[in-house]
Amino acid sequence: MTESVTEKTAPRLNADGAAPLKTLHVRSWGCQMNFYDSQRMVDLLAPLGYRPVAEADGADMVILNTCHIREKATEKLFSELGRLKATKQEKSAQGGTMIVAVAGCVAQAEGPVIAERARHVDIVVGPQSYHALPELVARASRAAGQPILMTDFPVDSKFDHLPEEMADRGVSAFLTIQEGCDKFCSFCVVPYTRGAEFSRPAQDILAEARRLVLGGVKELTLLGQNVNAYHGAGLDGSTWTLGRLIRAVAEIGGVERIRYTTSHPNDMDDELIAAHAEVPQLMPFLHLPVQSGSDHILARMNRKHTAAAYLKVIDRLRAARPDIALSSDFIVGFPGESDKDFQATLDLVRTVGFAQAYSFKYSPRPGTPAAGAETQVPEPVKAERLARLQEAILEGQLRFNETSVGTIVPVLFDRAGSRKGQLHGRSPHMQSVHATAPAHFLGRIVPVRIKEARQLSLTGELATDELHDLVA
Ligand code: SF4
Repeated sequence: MTESVTEKTAPRLNADGAAPLKTLHVRSWGCQMNFYDSQRMVDLLAPLGYRPVAEADGADMVILNTCHIREKATEKLFSELGRLKATKQEKSAQGGTMIVAVAGCVAQAEGPVIAERARHVDIVVGPQSYHALPELVARASRAAGQPILMTDFPVDSKFDHLPEEMADRGVSAFLTIQEGCDKFCSFCVVPYTRGAEFSRPAQDILAEARRLVLGGVKELTLLGQNVNAYHGAGLDGSTWTLGRLIRAVAEIGGVERIRYTTSHPNDMDDELIAAHAEVPQLMPFLHLPVQSGSDHILARMNRKHTAAAYLKVIDRLRAARPDIALSSDFIVGFPGESDKDFQATLDLVRTVGFAQAYSFKYSPRPGTPAAGAETQVPEPVKAERLARLQEAILEGQLRFNETSVGTIVPVLFDRAGSRKGQLHGRSPHMQSVHATAPAHFLGRIVPVRIKEARQLSLTGELATDELHDLVA
């Protein structure tokens, strides 16, 4: 039986009944899921009196929320931990204490090594166990000098233990609906670090969505490692797919925009594609990784689809939502990639006309099947191919952005712009838009006339003719 976490971790209270204030610095790397997890860690530790701070120096607790997709992720973690060791020693010399925790996928994959090599680390916690942080913090405070390791895949879902209270998320928030992956692409560590696919029940997701909207959120991005494989318990007792879930989220008053990421081409089912045609809040933008345009390489990657199958999905999406903008991920220099294979990738990029895309040189991830392949592509070849691919992607991106010039787009302003008097926001197609606008337009969806397009952003001015309602 699990001991009562609440009782075990109940902090000493101030005279006014509040937990004493402590500072918490969380540093996150990697995907949006890691950033969501980091926010939930802050929520979990808030009742213990921890409030987030921007700097590690002097903090009472530091969490490094790591990503194993990064190149040389483990080495980079140890160099970060080296710096933290000095910070912790300095604090200790002044009579203070600092709890150091390593979370995320590197913690999952390398937990025992971290505990052995970095003795100043107090807690190593995997991505499926971070709901236990309050208990781990209490144990770490009692057992200084003995790292606590928690990297099992627990039987019960961490989501059942996360608090309902959430810190301010601004106007645009992530909401994790699914975790883990059963696809086992041969380059990817996710199935090993995040485990098997798990979908949260719709009821829990909708409750979290409602809380976020009550807190001021207007745009929800539904997250999952393989988000469109979502198969959660629906409100009616049946199993819901992502398409069905999106329709339910759209019914919540105040949800003005819905996005989802990251998807696998094989899981773009009819219900999801129909949602793109029929749910007005579902934004006309989709990040759909393909990784390569060569069937030979796709097979070696164990992607379980061909380039033609990917293009067919794109055709179905465009038939449902003609203005949909597409984004993708590419790996260049995968083991065995020939010039002809690479050319097939360039051809696919030009055929689809992506609005944006991410591209990376292949680098082996320890423990994945592709890491040991004997046909590794030499680094200079990878670098040259990456440069050519990025040029093609940026050309397409500029072409896409230029189609916005002269049009009026609804922009959700989410933060101050880099120039004085400007705000930054996102178009429905996920483009970055800068416009001169009063600060009170932050958090609102405002029509902007696009004047100029660059590869990475748009600049515009408020479309004053359209603004009567907002100004009134
Ligand atoms: S589908 Fe995505 S998360 Fe799953 S193994 Fe492939 S790359 Fe990794």
